[in-house]
Formats: sequence, structure tokens, C-alpha cells
Amino acid sequence: MTQLANIRAAPRCGAKTRAGTPCQSPAIRGRARCRIHGGLSPGAPRVERNGNFKSGYWTAESMEERRWIKEILRLYAKATDK
Ligand SMILES: [Zn+2]
Repeated sequence: MTQLANIRAAPRCGAKTRAGTPCQSPAIRGRARCRIHGGLSPGAPRVERNGNFKSGYWTAESMEERRWIKEILRLYAKATDK
């Protein structure tokens, strides 16, 4: 019974689900998210520390930048498409 009480007392994962409600799963110890929301592992190392690093093309930063440019172009095309 103490184990169940511990689970109930554990901090909850605050990740938002597709339904818009918080996840509510127990968070991993020492972290704010449950294991399915990035609590278990921080992921692969960024940039050069990642063993699979080849060029700068696939870094999170450059991918984010390309997405941003694509979005701008899309909005611009929509605005001029009349
Ligand atoms: Zn979660």
C-alpha cells in the first residue's frame, strides 16, 4: 500500500496531450516529465558530440532555421496568391 501511496505522491508529468489535458503520468525521479515525454533520457548529444555528426546540415538549429524559412515562404505565397 505504501508503494501505491508513493506513486500518488510523485510529481506529475506536465506535458500536454493531444486532447489538451496534462499527461498526469508520474514523472521520472528528479525530472519534470514522465518517461514517454522526455524524462528518461535527454536524447542524443547535440552537434559535434553526437557520434553520428557529419556536417551542420542536420543539427536541430539548422533544421529549425529551414522550417522557419519554409514557413515564411508559405505565408508569402499565400499572401500573393490572388
Ligand atoms: Zn508525460
